[in-house]
Amino acid sequence: MLRKLTDMIYYLPNDESTDRPSIGYVKGRKYSLMVDAGASPLHVQLFLHELEQNGLKRPDFVFLTHWHWDHVFGLATLKESNVLSIACKMTNERLIKMRKWEWTPEAIESRLSTGEDVEFCMRMMEMEYPGFRHIQIATAEITFEDRLVLDLGGITCELLRVGGPHTEDSVICFVQEEKVLFLGDASGEDLLQVPAREYRCKLGDLLHRLEPLPFELVVPGHWGDEKRDDTLRDICLEMEKTENELYHIPSSMQVADGK
Ligand SMILES: [Zn+2]
Repeated sequence: MLRKLTDMIYYLPNDESTDRPSIGYVKGRKYSLMVDAGASPLHVQLFLHELEQNGLKRPDFVFLTHWHWDHVFGLATLKESNVLSIACKMTNERLIKMRKWEWTPEAIESRLSTGEDVEFCMRMMEMEYPGFRHIQIATAEITFEDRLVLDLGGITCELLRVGGPHTEDSVICFVQEEKVLFLGDASGEDLLQVPAREYRCKLGDLLHRLEPLPFELVVPGHWGDEKRDDTLRDICLEMEKTENELYHIPSSMQVADGK
């Protein structure tokens, strides 16, 4: 069910059964923006159906938060419906490469062995696409380097490539007037397991990018909306945890959370 966050912002919550991420919707006076393209044609259809049920028009634009399958595989379906697609260059370069991927057992096995794909994603993907059939990967029509501002009519969306611990191409969307931040998976762990020191450093960089933005509510990719302080606190806690692991501080010497 579509959730209304503010008068101008809605989202379809994530679904853990096949790891579908949330899909956002920002309604301007003139245009509307969809945040992430979903995992499959079925995921897109569910989203469009929910918009219709709520009397909301189809999105004019869709933007991709990063290249992972669950956020981009619905793009081909959206392009067929003439929704204009936006991604940062780094994301689009990944999509151009992924379009050449084959879905035979051998090709999948080979990508798993090189770390291009991970077991968990393949399990989820197969539930969304039985036998890995009918996977279509599209590329974005509009690309930007690090920052793009969209005026939807009374609503300004700032798309910022922030990178961070999850993927280098992670883009967040700050909806200025509503003080809402679509975070995507930017604060999540890299599924390919980067070294702890690098992970901690990237968390710090992300925190540094988020702190100056005056958002109040956050819509993350794989859990429900939360308040600004919760998001920033979780990143700080994750940094502390990684630091403790790095330097092997005995638990008896660690400072308790929140002190
Ligand atoms: Zn991801």
